[in-house]
Amino acid sequence: MAKRNNNDERHCVFCGRSESEVPLLLQGLDSAICSDCVKICNDYIVNLEKEARPAPDKIGKLMKPKEIKEYLDQYVIGQDRAKKLLAVAVYNHYKRINNNLASADSDNDLELEKSNILMVGPTGTGKTLMAKTIAKLLEVPFTIVDATVLTEAGYVGEDVESILTRLLQEADYNVKLAERGIVFIDEIDKIARKSDNPSITRDVSGEGVQQAMLKLLEGNVVNVPPKGGRKHPEQEFVQVNTQNILFICGGAFEGIERRIAQRLNTQVIGYGTVHKQQVDKENLLQYVSAQDLRAYGLIPEIIGRLPVITYLDQLDRAALLRILTEPKNAIIRQYEKMFELDGLKLRIEPAVLDLIVDTAIENRLGARGLRSICEKIMTDAMYEAPSSKKKTFDLTLDYAKAHLGTDIQ
Ligand code: ADP
Repeated sequence: MAKRNNNDERHCVFCGRSESEVPLLLQGLDSAICSDCVKICNDYIVNLEKEARPAPDKIGKLMKPKEIKEYLDQYVIGQDRAKKLLAVAVYNHYKRINNNLASADSDNDLELEKSNILMVGPTGTGKTLMAKTIAKLLEVPFTIVDATVLTEAGYVGEDVESILTRLLQEADYNVKLAERGIVFIDEIDKIARKSDNPSITRDVSGEGVQQAMLKLLEGNVVNVPPKGGRKHPEQEFVQVNTQNILFICGGAFEGIERRIAQRLNTQVIGYGTVHKQQVDKENLLQYVSAQDLRAYGLIPEIIGRLPVITYLDQLDRAALLRILTEPKNAIIRQYEKMFELDGLKLRIEPAVLDLIVDTAIENRLGARGLRSICEKIMTDAMYEAPSSKKKTFDLTLDYAKAHLGTDIQ
């Protein structure tokens, strides 16, 4: 029975407060509990369960590289080489984890090591898109971080360990799960050494960060602040082993072509390994090597931990046109859907698509510019359409030009 005091009021058997002091008192067979205590108990149980939950032993469904690539094809136009490489890397990552788990239980002690990846390519060519698309497929936690916010410990900005905080959050604080995750580090070129001169005053956002990042890439037990940042000095660190975490790095490495050209020139003179006439001067990025990255300002130790290097192609006119309409969530498909939701059919003159692509090329924005150009053309139409009595909206070249304020013919 719930305790009753002198004036016969019922009490919570957990906190002892009386019915008038609590939001709600729940009566059981012979005692009562208040709603506050129920909430506290519930949080406690959820946390206990979270801690006790084991990471699944094996990663179940092992998608083959071809299947992964086919999935990527639905969203990412072109970039076949990078897609293949990424598909293989992710597949191997799964295989490696399953094997290492199996060999931990047997006397087969051959441990498969991971191969982190570096993607070099101009901005807006699909590096992040590829990483995000892969993330949708994965059964492992995945996070994207921007290297530009990182600084050496003790300076304004984020510590390198915050990368793992994000992964830990993605894994719902299950350390075992986070320890087999995948991290995409964007804009890695922005932490290149700023100067060749080592005597420059401290380079806190360049080489210092690379040194700190090396610790993660190498595979170490790292102390991670679970809430991230430095705002919670009281928090206890969580230890995360990065040995099985796959790191995919991406960067535009603007201007690296000059260094590649320089190297190729000296090679031609020195050894004659690459003949001048064989060099495709329009696409020097395809020859990118560890040497060029070093000349750009990445420290050799970091390069050594990124053994798979691939490059992305600059998107040409044909690719941009395809990007507008082909991917599963292509921009034009999205507009068609928006109109459809208002009961309208959107009909677009093919010449409008050419105009959009030409404008993107002229503005040098690549694929990144397509959406803002479309927005400019469509805003008025989207304002008018829902109140219109018509069943179709015809987007003509004249309408598009008038709204874009362009004189492209
Ligand atoms: P970055 O290479 O700088 O990481 P993003 O992947 O962020 O470029 O690309 C920006 C946007 O451009 C994407 O969200 C996507 O809409 C479009 N885009 C870029 N490249 C492609 C591509 N190869 N296929 C389809 N869309 C692309």
